[in-house]
Amino acid sequence: MILVTNDDGVDSPGLSALARALKQVEDVCVIAPNRNWTAAGHTKTLDRPLRVAEVTLPRTRQKAYSSDGTPSDCVALGFLGLAPERPRLVVSGINTGPNMGSDITYSGTVSAAMEGVVSGVPAIAVSLADYYEWEFTYAASFAARLARRVLREGLKHDVLLNVNVPRGRRSDIHGVKVTRLGRREYNDELIRRKDPFGRDYYWIGGSPPGGAGEPGTDLHAVAAGYVSVTPVQLDLTSHALIEQIASWGLKA
Ligand code: MN
Repeated sequence: MILVTNDDGVDSPGLSALARALKQVEDVCVIAPNRNWTAAGHTKTLDRPLRVAEVTLPRTRQKAYSSDGTPSDCVALGFLGLAPERPRLVVSGINTGPNMGSDITYSGTVSAAMEGVVSGVPAIAVSLADYYEWEFTYAASFAARLARRVLREGLKHDVLLNVNVPRGRRSDIHGVKVTRLGRREYNDELIRRKDPFGRDYYWIGGSPPGGAGEPGTDLHAVAAGYVSVTPVQLDLTSHALIEQIASWGLKA
């Protein structure tokens, strides 16, 4: 069984497309948040109960659970007993927008996949790398092929695959590149306005992030029309720096 979730919410057409494609691979259990949690990161809900409703995904007959928890909560719910059997794989997406470079530290889509890894199974995060056009057919079929492959080959413990698919049809896609994370550049601006009561409020705005990716990165691959597949590990330790910091001889 494959556990399917997302961070855009249970009504997102990206989730329906993904569930439909993955059903051709194996039984799916869909558990997704009842609202959009984009950029909520790896949030775990500890201070309130979680409610779950049974729903049907839009434009499908696919049954799903809709929860008022976060994307990571949805995955935890599945592993802790809501799914009818223990999932062998978590697939999260298809996100409406890219998750490349340091985006993944904000991403609810990638965090849901991380929760799968924390639960001890391989995971895949799938994002459509565009900001305006949402045609999920090709991304869904690629995700299904990759899921079949991961189920067959397995993945090293602690690793997920972060997938970004350029917009377009299959004939527009130049191929697949296995990449490293690139360096994102954010164009955030602080917008300060007055609320109707005369008090200041702040909004972090600005245009979509950029970043000229170097060859070998996810940003570079997608800009060149390739599907990017980045193996991401949860061990964030900078192994190269352990010795250097140790040489500081820090005293208690
Ligand atoms: Mn999202």
